[in-house]
Amino acid sequence: MGTHDLQAPAGPKGPDSSEGEPFTVVNPATGEPFAEAADCGPAELDAVVARARAAWPAWRSDPAARSAALSAAADAAETVADDLAVLLTREQGKPLAEARSEVSRLAARLRYFAALVPRTRDVGDGRAGVRSQLRWQSVGPVAAIVPWNFPLQLASSKIAPALAAGNTVVLKPSPLTPLATRLLGNVLSGVLPPGVLTVVTGRDPLGARLATHPGIRQVTFTGSVATGRLVAEAAAAQLRPVTLELGGNDAAIVLDDVDLDALGPRLFWSAFRNCGQVCMAVKRVYAPAGRYAEVVEALAEQARSVVIGDGLDEATQLGPLNNPQQLGIVERFVDEAVARGAKPAVGGHRVDRPGYFYAPTVLTDVPPDSAVVTEEQFGPVLPVLPYDDLDEAVAAANATEYGLGGSVWGTDLDRAEAVAERLECGTVWLNHHAELSLAQPFAGTKDSGLGVAGGPWGLYGNLRPLVVHRPER
Ligand code: NAD
Repeated sequence: MGTHDLQAPAGPKGPDSSEGEPFTVVNPATGEPFAEAADCGPAELDAVVARARAAWPAWRSDPAARSAALSAAADAAETVADDLAVLLTREQGKPLAEARSEVSRLAARLRYFAALVPRTRDVGDGRAGVRSQLRWQSVGPVAAIVPWNFPLQLASSKIAPALAAGNTVVLKPSPLTPLATRLLGNVLSGVLPPGVLTVVTGRDPLGARLATHPGIRQVTFTGSVATGRLVAEAAAAQLRPVTLELGGNDAAIVLDDVDLDALGPRLFWSAFRNCGQVCMAVKRVYAPAGRYAEVVEALAEQARSVVIGDGLDEATQLGPLNNPQQLGIVERFVDEAVARGAKPAVGGHRVDRPGYFYAPTVLTDVPPDSAVVTEEQFGPVLPVLPYDDLDEAVAAANATEYGLGGSVWGTDLDRAEAVAERLECGTVWLNHHAELSLAQPFAGTKDSGLGVAGGPWGLYGNLRPLVVHRPER
């Protein structure tokens, strides 16, 4: 069973000795608490990590059993897909259809990594009399820490490669979205050996405690740049390997030959899916001055027709922000830009209903140095900026410390690809954004990340090399 089902250790409660009080989870569509989750304290965390260490030797020693267990885990997740999706929508806010696709992606990723096997290879340099072989070894218990925007999908991007590599995992969701992950931990505990995967829920500083726990061998973190820096600093002090997947401020460059009738809706949803709370959402659009008004209108037209509501309602296309802090950031960014001359072509205000709703907003005439352009708005707001020549657009797209993704939108795909290759980021798309293959390396440049996740690279990132030199007779 996941640790949330364990009882608090006996003894007096206190900040350093046991669990805290359970904490409430709020439905962002109503602003009302609807559930509680356990607060894992230091003593319980010690016990969880000890179990992860104890489970490691058996788990790492049988690749065939591991592969079968991961496939069984995918099946088990699918049997509760509806429950996971509903819980995810209730705690995160996203429309049910998006929650369902998050669950199916989770299962697909578990199956993908169940089938991946690290390659043993010869690494001799031609000298006679010795065989040099590279093998891959697991590293031990891994701490996996994820944010609130894609709790299940990001959990799977951590646990699937780590478990496939033979590591055991302690997984910590955000305190804002602990419930679907807790259910997942419960369900997977039925198919994985005890201690191989444990979900711990709790308020911070649980994240820092887990990341720096002496029993942990490696940390894989997804979240903001600011928290990522703290995780990296702590890992550096402990000489502990760390993978960071951090924020983004992806630019979409629209070319003058773009077909807006065909691509306008897709460009819009590349920015507004999950209410804009996507690390690699389109967060800025650069449009050719000659077609600026058309691009703005194509986006605004979409925004005006969007069905806003509770994600549990099947008709809903755009749910609320996840939490009041994020709503406040979005509101502040828009208000500051508007105070400096930006104009909302549509939106620019909260939605008058309970919960954390903000109207889908398209901004024109935005000062390029306003926060809604230079920082990560992480909400349903899109600034559109004009450019005169392509060099200017590429320079503006790259003028950021973020480097996660980017996209180019046009009809001549060779021309679009030549522009895409100039973008400083980890993944670029033509006429698309944020579609990832399970088999691709996923890595941001600059402040957007450290290390490579995804595909075989994700597997090798969870392994350490062991070279065996053996005399040949
Ligand atoms: P956050 O950095 O505030 O929190 C992320 C997680 O870290 C949470 O589980 C939190 O409890 C935990 N945490 C907090 N302090 C910690 C510490 N000192 N040590 C260890 N863990 C700690 O991020 P958020 O606001 O939950 O998520 C939004 C951010 O995540 C955005 O910046 C977004 O771009 C980014 N993100 C990146 C990717 C990616 O793949 N690059 C994917 C999704 C989200």
